[in-house]
Amino acid sequence: MTTGEIPFLDLVTVHRELREELRSVFETALDTAGFVGGPAVQEFERDFAAFCESQFCVGMASGTDALRLALVAAGVRPGDTVVTVPLTFIATTEAISQAGARPDFVDIDERKVGRVVSKRTGGPVTAVIPVHLYGQMADMDPILELAARYDLIVIEDACQAHGAEYLSNKEDRWRKAGSMGRAAAFSFYPSKNLGACGEAGAVTTDDEQLARRCQMLRDHGQSRKYFHDIEGYNGRLDSIQAGILRVKLQHLTRWNEQRRQSAESYNELLAPTAGRVAVPYQPSWSKPVYHLYVIRTPDRNELQKHLTESGIGTAIHYPIPVHLQATYALLGWKRGDFPVSEEAANQILSLPMFAGLRSEDQHRVAEAVAGFASIRSASEAGIFPTPSHGSFGAKGEVHHGSSLLGR
Ligand SMILES: *Cc1c(COP(=O)(O)O)cnc(C)c1O
Repeated sequence: MTTGEIPFLDLVTVHRELREELRSVFETALDTAGFVGGPAVQEFERDFAAFCESQFCVGMASGTDALRLALVAAGVRPGDTVVTVPLTFIATTEAISQAGARPDFVDIDERKVGRVVSKRTGGPVTAVIPVHLYGQMADMDPILELAARYDLIVIEDACQAHGAEYLSNKEDRWRKAGSMGRAAAFSFYPSKNLGACGEAGAVTTDDEQLARRCQMLRDHGQSRKYFHDIEGYNGRLDSIQAGILRVKLQHLTRWNEQRRQSAESYNELLAPTAGRVAVPYQPSWSKPVYHLYVIRTPDRNELQKHLTESGIGTAIHYPIPVHLQATYALLGWKRGDFPVSEEAANQILSLPMFAGLRSEDQHRVAEAVAGFASIRSASEAGIFPTPSHGSFGAKGEVHHGSSLLGR
């Protein structure tokens, strides 16, 4: 098939395959009127903790709640500084500010999230949030080492990394995302590798006290009904979402494997455009789960336009680094503060990626990217004119020579 739109993300097909199982989750909830809490939540928490190789899992209403309550439960308080990266979803820093702390940043260095230094905010750095962005692992060994040396709390933002693995040199074994920090936050927003049919999230941890605090914080600080030991929030995971997540969790390993295979196919199909388009870097110490497949090119906006015109859905994660978002203007960051993140934000483009992405559609995406890359190279070489050089077809020559397609 060479026609039809290729969506950036297709959730309909995946849910159609699970329709009967998912329907029975809704029916059980209706029949028992169990909508909040109850066995469905506990069963999912047990299963997801096992999946993450963590001792405890506490279901939350969203990934944002999971991040915020994990920070609070870990002891981050007003006046503290929490360090993360500027190239992330804004929820990472919202969680920091809403826990009363101040966000500070270290730049990404393209291949790993590295050094943790902050003299910026004045307050003590008490925690770091490495973000396993796109389902790629942050390089955790150096982060954990620094954290141990300076007594920092590490909260993993694993909201895009369900099932990703990291080869810990220190421990000489593969470790699951969400099992390495003091705690980790997961999001089950519908588009995530494990997605609810609504909003949901979770904290994972090996720290029993922290888990207990998270349970209280998500439920108005109650230790038992109407005994509010601390001031909490309403951040509970509802039973329908828990039931749905439990059904879908059984397929997650297979879906992640499909994503990895799709990523490998993209890597091969895009190899001819290597001079123009960079594919994701995959270090030997990481088994990513490709929540997103993100390429880089200097002509990002034009390429995105070209793909849109070819009926191919794309997205940008994220076009504006967090430190330059309007809401943080008060913090005084400016363009140039984190140049690596800023440049990345101008060059990144997420291609269609989801479990069940068809191979023929990947071929079409790659052809469209290659077509664009060759037009670009050709116009730069002056072989055929760009609109700014005047009218098309003055010479009427279109070259398809392999030299124009790169290596
Ligand atoms: C999705 C996401 C979040 C927030 O999760 P929600 O469930 O949408 O609140 C936080 N951080 C990252 C990196 C995310 O991708």
